[in-house]
Amino acid sequence: MKKYSLNCSICDITQSNNSISNIFCDCNRKALLYCEDISINNINPIESIKNSKNSISLGEGNTPLVKLEKIGEKLGLDKLFAKLEFMSPTGSFKDRGSALVMNIAKKEKVKEFVEDSSGNAGASLSAYAAAANIKAHIFVPDTAGKGKLDQISIFGAELHKISGPRENSTIEAKKFSKENDIPYISHNLSPYFSEGMKSFAYEIYNELKAIDHIIFPTGNGSLLLGTWRGYKDIMKSNKTNLPKLHVAQSKNIEPIVAKLNNKKWEFDVDKKTLASGISVSNPPRIDEIIQAVESTKGEGVSCTDEEAIIWHDILAKEEGIFSEITCAFVFPALKKLIKDKKIKKDDTVLLPITGSGLKEPIL
Ligand SMILES: [Zn+2]
Repeated sequence: MKKYSLNCSICDITQSNNSISNIFCDCNRKALLYCEDISINNINPIESIKNSKNSISLGEGNTPLVKLEKIGEKLGLDKLFAKLEFMSPTGSFKDRGSALVMNIAKKEKVKEFVEDSSGNAGASLSAYAAAANIKAHIFVPDTAGKGKLDQISIFGAELHKISGPRENSTIEAKKFSKENDIPYISHNLSPYFSEGMKSFAYEIYNELKAIDHIIFPTGNGSLLLGTWRGYKDIMKSNKTNLPKLHVAQSKNIEPIVAKLNNKKWEFDVDKKTLASGISVSNPPRIDEIIQAVESTKGEGVSCTDEEAIIWHDILAKEEGIFSEITCAFVFPALKKLIKDKKIKKDDTVLLPITGSGLKEPIL
């Protein structure tokens, strides 16, 4: 496996402790760490796992890339592509991050850990924990899709269903970790999880070379940040442009879109959305996300559930792709960006389809 160092995302100081449970810089309890590859060869982090001794892999990465002919035609785009991230071992893009986190945990001889998730990350980490023979305690909202809850259980993880908003699962997970002295390895905070997401950039760069725009359904922004960092690595040794990285959110939970557009936004417990995978009211890496989007001249667009449902249906009925509702928020965002002339007919546009419709009940 590659060698990594952990750095502070604010003061840029390299940490002396790069263990799996180190998340915050000493300078300031709120500064999150990021992971930097310090090996000589700059290669895809998940390919590096597959080539290492004693490592675990479930075949993550290398998801299919397909052209969306009919939707492209409908929107007047010649080059519209979807990367089918739901064709990952546990049915979501989270496997890219989980593979790296659980391999580092195994190397550090971690026996047990605590994690909180809206569902997909919990299912993904549970699978890799099973393969690594590590006990997982997963805290999820009790409203998570049955498919996701079943997945967590079948992999042998201890499932803690928590009522109330998504934040409650985080609060309970941290409490449990402290009371039982079991490390809290949050995928939202872990620098290693984010590092695994870089693999997405390596793949799309190899597949498409020049990409003008990527629109991400964004909650905690791990895929967006991984893509940004991955591209910065790729650009060290290749001449390529950074695609514009755009954020799509639900109108009811839009902290990132609001910040990008200098709008005031406050969490309202009564405003619900079907976009369970991106219902994050307080993303811990929001400042890094803003930096990534602004530095690539990307945009933030929010859409209603009604708009997303229409596109969820079009994606299934016209392209044969059954996604989570969460992923469908990128389509009305794309439509708006075309209308506003931010995306042009000849541009190459990529949409990650991050999660499977099979895990969610149909409306
Ligand atoms: Zn710091």
